[in-house]
Amino acid sequence: MRYLTTIGLEVHAQLKTRSKMFCACPVEFGAEPNSHTCPICLGLPGALPVMNEEALRLTVLTGLMLDCDIADVSKFDRKNYFYPDLPKNYQISQYDMPLCSNGSVPLHDLAYPKDAQKNIAVPDKEVRLVRIHLEEDVAKSFHFETTTGIDFNRAGTPLMEIVTQPEITSPEEAFAFLTSLKQILIYGGVSDADMEKGQLRCDCNVSVRPETQTELGAKIEIKNMNSISGVRHALTYEVARQIEALGRGEKLEQETRGWDDVMGETFLMRTKESAHDYRFFPDPDLVPVKTEGLLSDVRARLPESPKRKRARFVQQYGVTAYDAGVLANDLELAAYFEKAARVSKKPKAIANWILNDLQSALSTAGKTIKECPIPPEALNELVALIDSGKISSKQGKEVFAEMFASGKSPSAIVQERGIEQLSDTTAIERICDEVIAANPKPAADFKAGNAASLNFLMGQVMKLSKGKANPQMVGEILERKLRA
Ligand code: ZN
Ligand code: MN
Repeated sequence: MRYLTTIGLEVHAQLKTRSKMFCACPVEFGAEPNSHTCPICLGLPGALPVMNEEALRLTVLTGLMLDCDIADVSKFDRKNYFYPDLPKNYQISQYDMPLCSNGSVPLHDLAYPKDAQKNIAVPDKEVRLVRIHLEEDVAKSFHFETTTGIDFNRAGTPLMEIVTQPEITSPEEAFAFLTSLKQILIYGGVSDADMEKGQLRCDCNVSVRPETQTELGAKIEIKNMNSISGVRHALTYEVARQIEALGRGEKLEQETRGWDDVMGETFLMRTKESAHDYRFFPDPDLVPVKTEGLLSDVRARLPESPKRKRARFVQQYGVTAYDAGVLANDLELAAYFEKAARVSKKPKAIANWILNDLQSALSTAGKTIKECPIPPEALNELVALIDSGKISSKQGKEVFAEMFASGKSPSAIVQERGIEQLSDTTAIERICDEVIAANPKPAADFKAGNAASLNFLMGQVMKLSKGKANPQMVGEILERKLRA
């Protein structure tokens, strides 16, 4: 029996604003607990919320980047429930009029786990979204041995909730979705989307069913994962567990499970509870939002999406789709490439240097592209030196290593080391004449049709020029002279 997997994700992303959603307290990760609080985010009676306009803009910006429909009018609602991290007993969220609906996240090949990139079920898949709404984060609980502490610094942080259609069909696709989404959020400057800091959190709904069955299987929710690979592992475990249970003839029921990263397994948290009734109603302290003004603000600052950047790199600089993917994968790397490539006659060579030599040098040195000792202009200069024949590509590698080690410019290194390639026709001709005269036998052999003799003569010229002669010119000149 074959089984089909259906996954839907609910992703919460903290927005990168200076202040909280409904008060002026700063948003800062890692501050002293309960140091960034006020009557509003503590939920004291009578405190009145004031909307953070930048959070609205960032949500609309995300919506535009993901091709969502932006509501003309949106509103905030109270989602009522009781929990220790929520002293008002309601969360300000959005119910029936979210800021964004529809839209999609395009998955690209490099967003899949490395070991799955050769085996992508649906290339260029786009995962459609149901909606994106804006809400406030709740406080964070810390469970100690016998007590629980609550930190209200997080309470009121602007939180964007992104809900997908249930159309992800494997743990690898879920991984690619989160990687692609995270990249888009970083591109937009919307969120730092660091899962370890809880800036990006994900709940998964997963079900399996026999392929002969049209109706979806029991929906099982997995909570509390703190990395994208954790999501993949949890889903892989859960899909296998569900298939095994069905194979045993067991009937699965709707339930919520947690993920134990250490044990590598999901565990039951609570079984089929009656659907929550949150008693949503419009927040009477907040007026509805007209998005017209926000839209025009945001359109003016709409960044290029990763997908568009990849396509443009191929078109504008002639790099391969794969190379464009790697370059655009990291916004800093993409910016570095463009700074060099924009002014270069050989943008493809720039890409090769970055993807091979520079990336390996950076990883060996444990540096990020931001800490790269070679400025993009210098890399462009190096490529131009090789392209013009001033130095050979082999010499280029030496110069590159020294550039990386010392931060010196390539022309300074070439001058210091005296490694300039000899590209002066007259000088090379003179050496060629000398070599032909000193080696009459190989010269005659070449003339008699032994093509390999040319290599020997070339070697002699290179030796005599102390390796400085431009090899391509040497070959051409020798051949011309011998055929004359
Ligand atoms: Zn506050
Ligand atoms: Mn939510």
